[in-house]
Amino acid sequence: MKSKKVTRRSFLSTISASTVAVAATGAGISGFTPVFGNSRDTADKLAVLGGSPVRGNKKWQNWPQWDAEKFNPKMNEVMANRVWSRSHKVAEFEKKWAEMHGSKHCLSTVNGTNALSAAWMQSNIGPGDEVICSPYTFSASIFGILYKGAMPVFADIDPATFQIDPEQIKKKITPRTKGILPVHICGYPSDMPAIMKIAREHNLFVVEDACQAHLAEIGGKKVGTFGNAGCFSFQASKNLPIGEGGGILTDDTEYYDRLYSYHNFGYASGSVSGQISSITALILANKIRMAEYQAVIGLCQMEKLEEQHKIRNENGAYLNEKLSAYPGITPVKLHKGATAASYYIYAMVYNQDKLDGLPRKRFIEALNAEGIPVGTGYPNDPLYAQPMLQEVFKSDIYKKFYTTDDLNFEKYKQKNHCPALIQTFNSALWIWHGGLMLGSKSDMDDIINAVDKIHNNVAKLK
Ligand SMILES: *Cc1c(COP(=O)(O)O)cnc(C)c1O
Repeated sequence: MKSKKVTRRSFLSTISASTVAVAATGAGISGFTPVFGNSRDTADKLAVLGGSPVRGNKKWQNWPQWDAEKFNPKMNEVMANRVWSRSHKVAEFEKKWAEMHGSKHCLSTVNGTNALSAAWMQSNIGPGDEVICSPYTFSASIFGILYKGAMPVFADIDPATFQIDPEQIKKKITPRTKGILPVHICGYPSDMPAIMKIAREHNLFVVEDACQAHLAEIGGKKVGTFGNAGCFSFQASKNLPIGEGGGILTDDTEYYDRLYSYHNFGYASGSVSGQISSITALILANKIRMAEYQAVIGLCQMEKLEEQHKIRNENGAYLNEKLSAYPGITPVKLHKGATAASYYIYAMVYNQDKLDGLPRKRFIEALNAEGIPVGTGYPNDPLYAQPMLQEVFKSDIYKKFYTTDDLNFEKYKQKNHCPALIQTFNSALWIWHGGLMLGSKSDMDDIINAVDKIHNNVAKLK
């Protein structure tokens, strides 16, 4: 693939790189340190045009966070006792994650990608089946569907909430539909009550991609507990960062037994039984176990998660209220019924028509210069058009189970085209939560003041 790759992680590193660049600018030229408010002239002048940044020299909190004094002894303990592979700490982590969500079972995995893949691997979907997916995500969400030889079908999002639109899901149902993959993108809840109603009517298997949506909830019920399975990521950028790690929630004990066996070489587990020796593989499996030291990091992070979640939601509500006053900046809405978001990303929709035609790129440059790390989010590179699918469609198994017409990539792209998604790619503003959404009221005011400043100076930016 020749095209310039922009991954989620490079997007995040772009964000942190720009934060660093801004901090460096803030430090000033030859020892001069501009402080917002010093002089009305430089304070009013946009930083991108040489004025002083709203944020001055202030840094955002780091992410991930580690309280060494409190957490190092716990980490040292597990390292010293030399039980490093899956054991009590992993089990404790799973128990607590399940309890925190009001779910019967949690199975931890090496990462979110493998949590999602395992959830599909142990479902009954297979070649010839269709799974309706949210398109506002990246490849990791759908690998498992393709491993099973099933066909991803994309239903467009609601551009106001960024979430898969239940009305669009209904339009995509065929006799071959067997599953739904909602992705709680940016950590805002998808409309699970409406999605589960469709799933019940058509007997569909639902895997929630909650990899960005730790503790988000609808009517007090946590996301990840609505579908047959809910998958989480504990990758370093996420709200519960381990570095790498994943989890699957489910209330279905038989399914959980299969998942457990799958994540452990196919060995016996609960209702998956009948072994001859302790190493008899009973099902086709994988090995995707979390390690003890990963679980310890997770348990340490979990101690802080609920308090952090509360702060993010207070800050989110404050930003939603204040920023909605600015034409052209529309905070992403929580659909009615949603009671909390994770704010993995604080998301907005940009409308340049209401900002005198100021291009989004220029708005972002100006905001970054003020010390506010904001980006575009996923680039305009829809999942249904990525070469991976074309590659999969050339495989023998797909040729066996689908018609030439089904596998015609041009036709596939047309059939799956999602206009609201494209509109969102071109208008989204993302602020990654890391450190920032845990800030104080005055940190949030800096964001609002920076937007205000740009709003007052739009003409000078063009
Ligand atoms: C992070 C993420 C994943 C994958 O999780 P990893 O732990 O990085 O493998 C999947 N889906 C979404 C929406 C994510 O944000």
